[in-house]
Amino acid sequence: MLPTTLDEATAALAAVPAAVPVAGGTDLMVGINSGQLRPSALVGLGRVSEIRGWQYLDGHALLGAGLTHARMGRPDFAALIPALAAASRAAGPPQVRNAGTLGGNIVSAAPTGDTLPVLAALEAGLVIAGAEGARREVPVSHLLAGVEMLRPGEIVGHVRVPLLHAPQTFLKATARTGPGRALASVAVVLDPARRGVRCAVGGVAPMPLRPLEAERWIASLIDWDGDRALNREALDAFGEYVAMACIPDPAPAEDGGETPVLPPAALHLRRTVATLARRGLGRALA
Ligand SMILES: Cc1cc2nc3c(=O)[nH]c(=O)nc-3n(C[C@H](O)[C@H](O)[C@H](O)COP(=O)(O)OP(=O)(O)OC[C@H]3O[C@@H](n4cnc5c(N)ncnc54)[C@H](O)[C@@H]3O)c2cc1C
Repeated sequence: MLPTTLDEATAALAAVPAAVPVAGGTDLMVGINSGQLRPSALVGLGRVSEIRGWQYLDGHALLGAGLTHARMGRPDFAALIPALAAASRAAGPPQVRNAGTLGGNIVSAAPTGDTLPVLAALEAGLVIAGAEGARREVPVSHLLAGVEMLRPGEIVGHVRVPLLHAPQTFLKATARTGPGRALASVAVVLDPARRGVRCAVGGVAPMPLRPLEAERWIASLIDWDGDRALNREALDAFGEYVAMACIPDPAPAEDGGETPVLPPAALHLRRTVATLARRGLGRALA
């Protein structure tokens, strides 16, 4: 089935309840080809033009879920939401970026999904389309945490992102050189109007983590009416604070025995997160 509007797509899903929407197919086809998924029918979203662009609404951008990573990586989009553009440029090899979409990245909800920490830091919302023109909006973080789920027949139509007009960064570490899934990633977003710093860490847990105390602490050190610069010690401390919040030390042994230590791989991951957070904030404030 190849609908051309969101309402046609939701109607097609309502008509065949076991059908599954497919956008770029870069995640779905992996599941089908490996035999893990056997959907009885597919509803292709590739011709739904209303979800392939973006529009402006009350200080927000309403991004179509069908935007590809390649499209979001271009300069005009980067001028709008720099961290999301950077995440899209980092999302896999060119073939995957040409086909893979924002909506697919969100619904797949992989721990390594590159757009997800950015959307978490931006506190983005999802506009979800249901049958007969129904629309509802939920925070992206609720979907990723499983607090909210897509109901049968629903499609992510748009992603509402606040336009902050301030620096933001996305940095990713992979286990090898060149394109690869994130070992860890960090998004840092400045929100001067609210005098806030928002940060989210991807790759280290099933969903992006927000180190809220570290965010509040570092925001209190910034001279928002001045040059916003922070010294190296403050940036280092922020990196450590973020990393410790996301990868804490193991709890002391309950029987009073020897305190367990963090395994080397987790220690390495913590150092990686600390470095990404320090650099990400440093670049945002530079
Ligand atoms: C070789 C390779 C490398 C990759 N590297 C990366 C990487 O570095 N970083 C990264 O983040 N990802 C990576 N990916 C994963 C993938 O490309 C992304 O997650 C992509 O954004 C998925 O989008 P899609 O349009 O292809 O989704 P699809 O495969 O079409 O769909 C994925 C899931 O989302 C559902 N879905 C899609 N769109 C909607 C919608 N609008 N509403 C409701 N449900 C929807 C589908 O039903 C399906 O369950 C890689 C994949 C491959 C194959």
